[in-house]
This record gives sequence, structure tokens and C-alpha cells, in this order.
Amino acid sequence: MRLYTKDSIERVKDAVDMVELVGARTDLRRVGSRWTALCPFHDERTPSFSVDAQRGFYHCFGCGASGDAIGFVEAMEGLDFREAVESLADRYGVELKREQEDPQAEEERKRRERLLKLIERTTSYYERVLWESAEAAHARDYLASRGLEEEVLRTYRVGYSPSAWDKVLLAAQRDGFSREELLAAGLAQQGRNGGGVYDRFRGRIMFPLADARGRVLGFGARTLGEGRGPKYLNTSENSIYHKGRQLFGIHQARPAAASAGRIVAVEGYTDVLALHQAGIREAVAIMGTALTNEQLQELRRAAPTAYFALDADSAGQEAMLRAGHMARDRDLELLVVQLPDGRDPAELVAENGAGAFLSLLDRALTVAEFEVRRVLASADLGTPRGRDHALAALRPIVAGVPPRTATRDELVRLVADRLNVDPSYVMSQDSPSTAPSAEASRPRPRAPLAPLDAVAKSERGFLAMCHGSELGKEYLERLERDHFSYEPLWRVREHLLSHWDDPLIALPDDDESFAVLIKDVVLRAENDDVSAEALRLTFLQLDLARVNRGLRRAEQDQDFDVQRTLARDRQRLRDQIDELMGLTL
Ligand SMILES: [Zn+2]
Repeated sequence: MRLYTKDSIERVKDAVDMVELVGARTDLRRVGSRWTALCPFHDERTPSFSVDAQRGFYHCFGCGASGDAIGFVEAMEGLDFREAVESLADRYGVELKREQEDPQAEEERKRRERLLKLIERTTSYYERVLWESAEAAHARDYLASRGLEEEVLRTYRVGYSPSAWDKVLLAAQRDGFSREELLAAGLAQQGRNGGGVYDRFRGRIMFPLADARGRVLGFGARTLGEGRGPKYLNTSENSIYHKGRQLFGIHQARPAAASAGRIVAVEGYTDVLALHQAGIREAVAIMGTALTNEQLQELRRAAPTAYFALDADSAGQEAMLRAGHMARDRDLELLVVQLPDGRDPAELVAENGAGAFLSLLDRALTVAEFEVRRVLASADLGTPRGRDHALAALRPIVAGVPPRTATRDELVRLVADRLNVDPSYVMSQDSPSTAPSAEASRPRPRAPLAPLDAVAKSERGFLAMCHGSELGKEYLERLERDHFSYEPLWRVREHLLSHWDDPLIALPDDDESFAVLIKDVVLRAENDDVSAEALRLTFLQLDLARVNRGLRRAEQDQDFDVQRTLARDRQRLRDQIDELMGLTL
């Protein structure tokens, strides 16, 4: 089941410079043989985050996040194990060796790699044209007139395609790429009736469309003149680029979204650039209004909450409603940002600054609230009949919100207020329309597991370290429920112990996301050669995280006895960890 050889993964870990990797996210200070910093995973004022560069570990004494270089990239950039390995291999120039691969798959992968290389070099070429050629002067002027500075344009690798018909074609062919490859990469197109092949993008501002790891897959291209062709031209669907999966800016947004816990979805490329420039770096463009399930999944991987800031026109509003209904089954909290009429996020931050946009985020509505306000806005509240109509439309919306929550109370009050009826009336049981709507009563699939935060990822990492060795089993047996901040991982531990020889047999078939979690732990374990020292260190860290959680609870409960005991435990654990991490000799 392993994708890369153990040896390649070891070489990646060896090649990583932990100080450089972590230092790019938080300022590291040297203390003895290790480094400390403010934790990039939780808010704090005094540093409790520490890096052992030699052994390639990081650990936070505050929140309990811990792991190696691969774990750091997973948690920080929201990647999975494989993506994190690949991304580090890219960054540190390590060639990954695959476990045996069938010849056809190997050929396809090599072809794909060549196409990606072709697109990558074309991206650099477009960038150079934007900044260096006289032809692109009007494009530079246009971008400057939108208030976009060179730094942000370079961050997103914006470029310009020259208006000649064959620049990309000739340059790529000179470097050994075939016409067929240019067509397959979406960079060239064939004339009608079998005519010649020529550059697809000419005389346009080029917005590279990259995946979460920053690999450019295609382009969105904007024309400047009134000339031929549509205002926006995109790469057409091909083996590399799939419109439905794309979120513009996801690569740049991921780290910011991971630490902010939210992602902002807007409509246009320049909205993303303007927000980034204003310091709101967790923004992506959904490029058009019809959101796909794949895009929703990508948003969910980036953060648990998505703010939708689409145009206030009716297409934008409809899109937010649809997205809201789709998000419900995906464990993504979706909030609707209400933009002032006729203004997009780029204009808003240009004229009123980042603060104006942030305060709109603060006032964002839940989807139910948004729906209720829409119905109220279009209802005829002047007549009893109009109010009855509105009430009939509103009841199922309110009924869809879980009862006995502040959100529901608030909605009931709003409706009662605006319709001038008694609150008890809004959800009264005597009217047939109060029966829960078909949608609300439909049995919901078991909620997917929430994505893991940095602490839960450390817990998962420890389970993987334990799997497969006798010593690991001893540690698993020592773990208690309290060691886990994330309950499903406790259940994974139970499953591992009760199916020690083959945990992949007897996977629960009624709970797919739990089965996925078990598989994930077992597959991770395949890639790990764990020393007794690393096991012990990670166990101590989990134990410390448990004690810290207990302390916080005891502080809240003002239970001084428990606080005293736990504080002693904490000191003992810290000493042991310090000793292991080589702080004391
Ligand atoms: Zn922390």
C-alpha cells in the first residue's frame, strides 16, 4: 500500500532544515541546543513552542501540537501525508522513489509531469513578459489602476501573454516539447478545419490557476481591449485542469486559513489579490457562481468555517443559498457576508480599508438568517394575507435550525417582530405548515468527522508510531481516554488493540469516516521507523497535553486540590521532556 519507499521518506526528513521550515512561520530564538518561538498553532504571548533541529521534532508545551517536519507541513498547510512528503521533496530537491508501479501508470505519470513542467515554464514566461515587455505596459497600468502592487502580483504570479500567435508555441518547441503536448496542456489550439496550431492566449493578463501545493494547472486570462473574444478566457478542461476543482489562490490562502480557522470565498481574481494585499490572506475565488462539491471539499480542508462574500446581485445570492445547503452535509460552517450593493471586495478594501471588510465578516449571517431576511425583504408585510404567506415560507427555514439554540431563538424573535405576531406563533404546532419540511426530516447521513486540528494530528501521529511494534503496543495500553482531545482517535486506539494483527480487517462498515481514520493511521505507520526514544518523547508530550487540559478545567472549576496535583505532574513531565530533548544533560 506504500506509495514511496521508506528510504525516500527518510531522505526527505534528513534533507529538511527544521529551523528554516519552522522559521518561515514563526520567529525562532536559540536557547541552548534547541529553538523556541511563539506557537504557530495557538495564540500566545510567551513562547512555549520548541524545536529540536537535530532530531527534527517540534513540540508545543501550550497546546500539545507536536511532530516531525512532515507533520508540521501537514498541520500548517492543511496537506495530507502524501502531499506533505511531495511538497517537502520538491522544496529540498529530494527525488522520491516509488514502490513498484505498473508500466502504464508510470508512463501516464511521466507524461503528466512533462505537461506540468511545460505549464510551469510558460507561467514564468508570462510573468517575465508582464514585467519586462513594452507590449504589456497597458496591462501594468490597468493593474496599477486597480490598486494592485507589484508584490502581490508577483505572489500570485500574474503574467501577460504576448499578442503574437506563436511565441509560446515556438519557445516550447525549441525546448523539445511537441505540438501535441502544447495542445494537451491547454496552451495551444488547433485552427478550424484542421488549420494550423497557434497560441491559445494572446494579449491577455494571465492569472495562474494552481493547486493547493502551488503547481500551476491552467490559466484564467482577461482581455484588456474591446478586441475579439470573451472578456475572460480559461484553460479548457483537459487531463490536468478541471474547472470544477479549482479555487483561485488556494495555495496562498491555505497557511493563513489554517491559522485563522476560516476561509473567505469571493468571486473574482482581483478580489483575492486586493484582500491579500490588505492583509486578509485567507481568500480564494470560486470563479463563477456555481459552486461544486469538489470546491466545497477543498474549502473544508482549508478551514472549518467559510465566509462567502459574493456579489449582492441575485445570481450571487442564489449561489450562497445553494452553497449553504450543500455545506450542511459536509460539516462546513458557511456564513454569508453581505456586501454593500454593487460593490465587490476589491473596491471595498480599496476605498474603506481592510477594517471595513473585516467588520462585514464579523456581521456575517448564518444561512438560515440570510434566508429569513431574504423572505422578509420580498414579503408584503402590509396585509394579514401577505404576512401569512411569509410565515408559511419562514416556518420550514426556522424549523431547520436546531431547537434550543441561540440562533433559533434569535430567528424566532426576528420573524415575530417583523410579522408582528406572538413568538409562540412562529413555531406553533397547530398549523400544517409547521410540520418539518421534507428536507429537515430526511435522515441525515452520519456527519463526517471534523478535520483534525494540530493537537489531534499529534494524537493521530502517536497512534501511527505505536502501530506494529511490541513497544508501541505497551504504550497504547497505557493510554487513557483523557489522552485524546479528539474522541474518534480514542476509538481508533481501541480498534488497534482489539485487532492488533490486522486492523484493516473488521473495519466498521456503517461508519465510513471512522474507517478512513483507521486506515489513515495504519498507512502512516507503514512509513515510520520509530525509535524507542521518539515513542517515549511523544508519549510524554501527549501526557503533558492531557495534564494541561485537566489544569484548565480545574482552574475553571476552582478546584485547588486538583490544580496542585496536576501542577506537580506538569513539572515532572516538563523535566522529563527537557531531558529527552537534550536541554539538561
Ligand atoms: Zn501551541
